[in-house]
Amino acid sequence: MKVFKTVSSVQKHLNSLNLKKSLGFVPTMGALHDGHLSIIEKAKKENKFVIVSIFVNPTQFEKQEDLKKYPNQLELDLELLKSKKCDFVFIPSVKEMYTTRIESEPFDFQGLDKVMEGTSREGHFDGVGTIVKKFFEIIQPHKAYFGEKDFQQLQIIKLMVNKNNLPIQIIPCDIYREKDGLAMSSRNIRLSANSREAAPLIYQTLVKCKNLFLKKDINKVKISVKNQFKNNPDLDLEYFEIADITTLVPSSVKEKNKKYRAFIAVHAGSIRLIDNIALN
Ligand code: AMP
Repeated sequence: MKVFKTVSSVQKHLNSLNLKKSLGFVPTMGALHDGHLSIIEKAKKENKFVIVSIFVNPTQFEKQEDLKKYPNQLELDLELLKSKKCDFVFIPSVKEMYTTRIESEPFDFQGLDKVMEGTSREGHFDGVGTIVKKFFEIIQPHKAYFGEKDFQQLQIIKLMVNKNNLPIQIIPCDIYREKDGLAMSSRNIRLSANSREAAPLIYQTLVKCKNLFLKKDINKVKISVKNQFKNNPDLDLEYFEIADITTLVPSSVKEKNKKYRAFIAVHAGSIRLIDNIALN
């Protein structure tokens, strides 16, 4: 496994290979867990070479405090990547990626960035778009892998690729969960014991909501979800929405022939957790 820290060294190496259509790219912010590793395994099966990036992108954090506390376990990450037979790892510094100014570029994501995660995390998706675009330009992968855990991010990246006619196939990856249903996240290790114990309610609520969705109208499902979290001392519901999977616009009425997904954000103490589920 080769590790690169600079743009020039990774580009030089990739240019020296006969890549044809065989480079899979998995962007991450490190603190790797089995969810990340499941994506890497999938990428290994589908490509001759796999490159993983580890970069905690400052422009997608609205709070400096959250950025500072983001878990970092580089040595362990490199061991895990080696064990998955990852071919290349790219771990650039902030200076390497942003050179002069640590700023995001403004994007028109056709409203996909204005709902759910976009309402509470201002500028987050411009930060994501900026860094993913930079990585795509440097690495020029044939396939790039994104988890459905961040479904809104996945749809935004797909739009960016389509709008710019980039020759990159975006591959969605299933949400990988703990045995009790909690979606794996690098932030889970920062949960207090009480929060960790309470957190499986998030997925349990989504599963219940999927069953209710077949029988009840959307407003009834939303009320039921709010009730699940009412008076819960450990979990504070930030939003719950049911949205069309292509526009991501939250709906209040079901329309035939549309595909819906439920999206949730919950505060467990100081940790913000998100999850989602396909409904039909
Ligand atoms: P992150 O390091 O959190 O930025 O995540 C890197 C990639 O892994 C993103 O495409 C995420 O959507 C994906 N990912 C994170 N957690 C999970 C999970 N539990 N299941 C599947 N994919 C995930």
